[in-house]
Amino acid sequence: MANTEGVTIHPAVDHGIKQGDSGFSGGTLTCKCATNPVKVRVGAQTAHNHVCGCTKCWKPEGAIFSMVAVVSRDAVEVLENGDKLQVVNKDAPIQRYACRDCGVHMYGRIENKDHPFYGLDFVHTELSGESGWSAPEFAAFVSSVIESGVDPSRMDAIRSRLRELGLEPYDALSPPLMDAIATHVAKRSGALAA
Ligand SMILES: [Zn+2]
Ligand SMILES: [Zn+2]
Repeated sequence: MANTEGVTIHPAVDHGIKQGDSGFSGGTLTCKCATNPVKVRVGAQTAHNHVCGCTKCWKPEGAIFSMVAVVSRDAVEVLENGDKLQVVNKDAPIQRYACRDCGVHMYGRIENKDHPFYGLDFVHTELSGESGWSAPEFAAFVSSVIESGVDPSRMDAIRSRLRELGLEPYDALSPPLMDAIATHVAKRSGALAA
């Protein structure tokens, strides 16, 4: 196993994974603006929380991974300063609503009803002061951190650290989520009965 000393992933996991609370029912996400922050209510527990190495998810300063979970879009409501939200890239499958002042992504939404994850919003629960959110379960798109400038020679140590934390590293999504996407595609093509 590679030496993992000093390897940081994300501030919410670097000191160990905090387990979620099964009775937890949501909280409020707040952007990083000192005045007039955007506030978004997430009125349910999240699912499939994970750290993500892609270049599209919002990450806190200095982190090489983001931490992102999903929740039903019906549970997401903008409470305050929603006029500061703008979509990062209107052409992306996930419309990421970011605060135009601090750059934090408050939620990501899929508008294409044929998308396998339609109906789910993507949220960063670290933006909430409440504890009890579902814990991260795996690491997605790990090889993609190289695209953000991480030296490839560091990958052994990064994957070892993720395993140490119990976050199995995958270079796409986890097998259950990849299976869910493939099942959706197969039902649309007729390869599987709908
Ligand atoms: Zn802000
Ligand atoms: Zn990502």
